[in-house]
Amino acid sequence: MISLVSQFGSPLYVYDESVIQRQAHLLKESLAYPDTLFCYAMKANSNLAILDTVRKLGFGVDCVSRGELELALMAGFDPSVIRFTPSFALTDEIRFAVEKGAQVTLDSLPVLEWYLGQFPDIPAGLRLNPSVMAGAYDKTSTGHAKAKFGIGMDLLAEVLRLVASGPFKINGLHIHSGSDILETDQFMKAVEVLLSAAPRFKSLDYIALGSGFKVPYFEGDKKTDMAQLGKTITDRFTGFCADYGRPLRLIFEPGKFLVSEAGTFLVTCTWVKENGGIRFAGVDSGFNHLIRPMFYGAWHTITNLSNPQGIPEKYDVVGNICETDTFASDRMIPEIRPGDILAFANAGAYCYSMASSYNSRPRPAEVYLQQGEARLIRHRETLQHLLSLQIPLPS
Ligand SMILES: *Cc1c(COP(=O)(O)O)cnc(C)c1O
Repeated sequence: MISLVSQFGSPLYVYDESVIQRQAHLLKESLAYPDTLFCYAMKANSNLAILDTVRKLGFGVDCVSRGELELALMAGFDPSVIRFTPSFALTDEIRFAVEKGAQVTLDSLPVLEWYLGQFPDIPAGLRLNPSVMAGAYDKTSTGHAKAKFGIGMDLLAEVLRLVASGPFKINGLHIHSGSDILETDQFMKAVEVLLSAAPRFKSLDYIALGSGFKVPYFEGDKKTDMAQLGKTITDRFTGFCADYGRPLRLIFEPGKFLVSEAGTFLVTCTWVKENGGIRFAGVDSGFNHLIRPMFYGAWHTITNLSNPQGIPEKYDVVGNICETDTFASDRMIPEIRPGDILAFANAGAYCYSMASSYNSRPRPAEVYLQQGEARLIRHRETLQHLLSLQIPLPS
């Protein structure tokens, strides 16, 4: 890993393809219902190399914007396995998705009304809000009653009236309750809400249960018991289809589960200093490159690759942004010296894809490890890139 920094520079994102493949196989083994489609939630990490791996694993893809739709098409996904599941999207984006043949999910009554006026004969799915609290952090919980996502169950009668007023076909129902869901019971609560509404829609082809499967963030951390959850869902869904009258397709949209553990973020220590009895180890990065600890309170295990045998000391690992950008507080890490290379684990999901150029610092490069080979899959951003959209005033 250290040699990658000499080769490609710092800071650097590194992804290991074999971890993505391992996680994909785990999903396929656990969720054994015969007609299951996994659509990778590409907002987690939209690098084309990763999309290529995911496509070759037989996955579809879940998109939330026109940009993501275009990337998915560039990556060679067949439109029949591209889902468009946006929130408050522009009508132009929805129109683009329909024109390309993607499966569109509508997530409010006004959008549904507009859609039925525009595309009365093109089936669409509905995102429901199951009003269930799920997930570890407030900001990642998307299925509770006051969340902006989905159509509330109290609006169901109105939805059905609208749909019945024309030749419309609602071909699927969708929920996505949030991220980092641990308990099978918690997940199934939202599933039950969806399945209770489903019989009122007579032309369904699929049920999409979103994702939110939790991965471990440190040795011994809890993770979703996929085998147990998979069996519970498979049994329940098979029973549901028997009642419904025909087998439907079951869809999941894993993001983090596939790519989180595949990623490592490598940074270099710039300075070490003490303030108020706290030892700060600063690095050549900040929340401009990895915002999850500051945004969600997320945990990333940090190791000192340059001094693994050093005497552990307590550090606050902080960024070089002129804001309070604390990656980790009170962490015992082998002595950190300026120039040491630190590795952040679980950096494959929602890290690069949430990066910005705040403080006018360019974004890192990305490298892919495939069968022991390290390949550059994204150039390091340069000041030239940052400046390219600015228009200086005439002098
Ligand atoms: C973000 C998102 C996902 C993926 O969530 P993870 O926690 O990364 O697995 C799935 N479905 C939808 C609709 C999403 O917006």
